[in-house]
Amino acid sequence: MDLTRRDFLKASSSGALAGTALGTLTAVGASLAPAVAQAQQLRIEHAKATPSVCPYCSVGCATLVHTVEGKIVNIEGDPRSPHNEGTLCPKGAAIYQLHVNPNRPTKVLHRAPGATEWEVWDLERAVSRVAELVKKTRDETFVERLENGKLVNNTTAIFSLGGATLDCEWNHAQQKLMRGLGVVAIENQARI
Ligand code: SF4
Repeated sequence: MDLTRRDFLKASSSGALAGTALGTLTAVGASLAPAVAQAQQLRIEHAKATPSVCPYCSVGCATLVHTVEGKIVNIEGDPRSPHNEGTLCPKGAAIYQLHVNPNRPTKVLHRAPGATEWEVWDLERAVSRVAELVKKTRDETFVERLENGKLVNNTTAIFSLGGATLDCEWNHAQQKLMRGLGVVAIENQARI
């Protein structure tokens, strides 16, 4: 393609992408497809691709996880998947930050009733405290039979709320635990 200095300057000053190299090239009719394809290829050239599944909802879109020396460098939709065909919704497209995210809390923080400061707890202590409170609440509120004699074996004092990042296995175990305790209010965004 012949591009004069005048053409270049004219294109640089007009259009939605005015002032950008990309805008200039697009405005003068240059096809970016080969460059984009090459950039896509280079991005994952030396990476190992491992098939996986998006954990966020029960649609279960297939993904490819790219790793270099054991570290995740990219996650994208798997084009071989018959139901998502390489695409991911905005939430799924952000799975990378589920794994690689310096802003994720990595410690348990506990703020006692009335306290103004958070205290760092180790995980074992926190889990033991949760188990202690669940048992206490369940024991204090468990109803075996209603007044009319109907057997219910439940507690309505505990509610289980699951997030979309809980996977099938976790939800299966969670259901078994909650049902075993007599909890009937169980919700999960993933609806698994
Ligand atoms: S959250 Fe989005 S990408 Fe993930 S499984 Fe559901 S629809 Fe697919």
